[in-house]
Amino acid sequence: MHDIGLAAVKNAQGEVGFRVLVGGGLGRTPIIGTEICDFVPWQHAITYLESIVRVYNEYGRRDNIYKARIKILVKAIGIDEFRRRVEADWQFTKDGPCTITVEELNRVAAFFTAPDYEQLPESDAAVAAQLSESRAFSNWVQRNVKPHKVPGYAAVVLSLKKTGIAPGDATAAQMDAAAELAERFSFGELRVTHMQNLVLADVKESDLIALWQAARELGMATPNIGLLTDIICCPGGDFCSLANARSIPLAKAIAERFDNIDFQHDIGEIELNMSGCMNACGHHHVGNIGILGVDKDGEEWYQVSIGGAQGNDSSLGRVIGPSFTFAQTPEVIARLLQVYVRERFADERFIDTVRRIGHGPFKEYVYAAPVIDAEGLTGEEYALLAAPYDTPLYSQGV
Ligand code: SF4
Repeated sequence: MHDIGLAAVKNAQGEVGFRVLVGGGLGRTPIIGTEICDFVPWQHAITYLESIVRVYNEYGRRDNIYKARIKILVKAIGIDEFRRRVEADWQFTKDGPCTITVEELNRVAAFFTAPDYEQLPESDAAVAAQLSESRAFSNWVQRNVKPHKVPGYAAVVLSLKKTGIAPGDATAAQMDAAAELAERFSFGELRVTHMQNLVLADVKESDLIALWQAARELGMATPNIGLLTDIICCPGGDFCSLANARSIPLAKAIAERFDNIDFQHDIGEIELNMSGCMNACGHHHVGNIGILGVDKDGEEWYQVSIGGAQGNDSSLGRVIGPSFTFAQTPEVIARLLQVYVRERFADERFIDTVRRIGHGPFKEYVYAAPVIDAEGLTGEEYALLAAPYDTPLYSQGV
């Protein structure tokens, strides 16, 4: 999804280099990057990138603000011609002053030393006991704690997706407190992710219970990482002058509609991304469910797409049909989930169900009956609305 993408790889001889992709991007022209070279030795990474930029500078549409992107040039001349030009240019830059030497690599690498890890046992007895005693703790560990390559350590995501606050938002007091957690539990380092959460990357497993308790008090322990309410959301119409529509209040309405952690765990991994305009700061194109704010005669409407994904199996979402009002959109999400619950195989993620059965069944059901704001409906009314899809979603009373 980037102008240039690099993936570290090893070739058949075990040498380290980079697979290089170009021409990706979101915004008004969403495109997934294309491979330009399957292996550039690490020594030549900078000169190869320099040649990509030189080719873009020479042939790109710098005259037009909307077309001044590598992706537009790659699309215009094709990846083969773009590659040919880059390779031709690289004959001049390769082995030049920007070639990385072992000495330079070592000089830079010295700034990235590993923290002072202790030798710890693989698991902690107190954590194991707490896991079996406390469902809340085990939910948190299941969603917010990630494995670490060093035995006895874990990476912990501090959720900034508590229902009722803007996704990714934190107060000054919370930031101070998060910094203290980093000092206390993670070698003083804290990372901000594009998923709009915070990560403590090096936490001792024996500290997990204490960290969980502290994060809970701060409202940063919602066990929803990777779940429905872990929404990526741009500032939208509340803060951004380019917006077509508000996004934060809609994210809040959706989070409130599905504010049931058991339900979210049942739905499993799903990414819902939202942008207030086509600039796509909320990465809606690559959300399993994407919501885009659009302007129709001065009114805010929302276009919904499904099937987008980020990561190694990335894909662009496809719009399911005409857009919805603010009030309708949470119900649309509910209907998409109903179809998923009805159609999924055991342990099948939402995105995999969409890829297997296609958009048709989702689209058909969402538009089957007038979409209404389902807030306040009785169980019977819900059942009528849900017919003919009698799914666990409603039987759970969600
Ligand atoms: S996607 Fe649009 S509305 Fe949202 S922050 Fe970016 S420019 Fe603003």
